Amino acid sequence: MQVLIVDDSKVIRMLVAECISELKHEVMHMESGAHAVEYIKTHSPDLIMMDVEMPGINGFEATRKIRIIKGDDWFPIIFLSTKIDEKSYEEGILAGGDAYLAKPIEPLRLQLQIKAMERIYIMRQKLKAAQEDLLVVNEKYRRLSLFDELTGLANRRNFDKTLDREFKLAKRDKKPLSVVLCDIDFFKIYNDKYGHQVGDACLAKVAQALANSVSRPTDLACRYGGEEFTFILPNTDLEGAQKFSEKVRQAVSDLHITHEGSTVSPYVSLSLGVATYNGQFSNGEEITKQADDALYQAKDKGRNRVEIS
Ligand code: GH3
Ligand code: MG
Ligand code: MG
Ligand code: MG
Repeated sequence: MQVLIVDDSKVIRMLVAECISELKHEVMHMESGAHAVEYIKTHSPDLIMMDVEMPGINGFEATRKIRIIKGDDWFPIIFLSTKIDEKSYEEGILAGGDAYLAKPIEPLRLQLQIKAMERIYIMRQKLKAAQEDLLVVNEKYRRLSLFDELTGLANRRNFDKTLDREFKLAKRDKKPLSVVLCDIDFFKIYNDKYGHQVGDACLAKVAQALANSVSRPTDLACRYGGEEFTFILPNTDLEGAQKFSEKVRQAVSDLHITHEGSTVSPYVSLSLGVATYNGQFSNGEEITKQADDALYQAKDKGRNRVEIS
């Protein structure tokens, strides 16, 4: 541990330091409470040995200030004092101290007290590390529950939740809300010809192009499943969504991913269906259903195109 000794008496500082060094801890000295308060603003010792009677602010005051500055970042503070009456003991503990030792110093008692505090301190450090690990794991699960691993796009669950929320907002604000469904053309043939791994790499590239097409912070590109993708475009009318979809179609075409089995393009292409809410639907699913009908039309009319419902 890094131990900070705060005492206005150099002799006592040396004595305490010697006891602590025997326990193989690192030692720092300070001669006033004010110095200690300044020091902990930028440093985190693992333990403080605090004298009570010092010129300037005394040990109790310094401890109160340190506890306020450090908040939840706890480490033990042990008082050393010639004042051993009940009142002083009470003030010390209530100021934020954890133990109270009488002067003159009894080396063995001081060392045992430090060992006891160290046990608690180590337990708390372990708890802190476990909490941090838990935060990392939670964040990982949050990501997995909302984003698709292969493409990094929002997943189906995220799409459903977002669409539900955006539908309510659009209805309340009387604003249009567009949904675009996209499906890669002849992707089964692509997989059969180039293999599943190349298929996956293709999905990732297409997804990147879709993600890059989105410019408004409220727009969301999603992997709906397999080789199907969607966009949620809040506050976007049918004409705007149609233009956007054409831009997306072009962006995927421009990737120039060779697709020899396609009869509609030498490259991987998308068919897209667009639907827009303008007060006529009662939930987001109905918009998606309409977009799906439009997508079906796009497939039917020759693929590699945008159709509106
Ligand atoms: P269409 O133009 O009518 O959409 O033809 P299609 O072959 O793309 O349509 P279909 O829905 O029948 O086939 C989709 C294929 O996409 C099935 C499967 O081979 C492939 N696929 C779906 N999900 C994945 C995936 O996660 N990775 C890879 N590599 N392929 C996938
Ligand atoms: Mg003193
Ligand atoms: Mg499909
Ligand atoms: Mg397809």
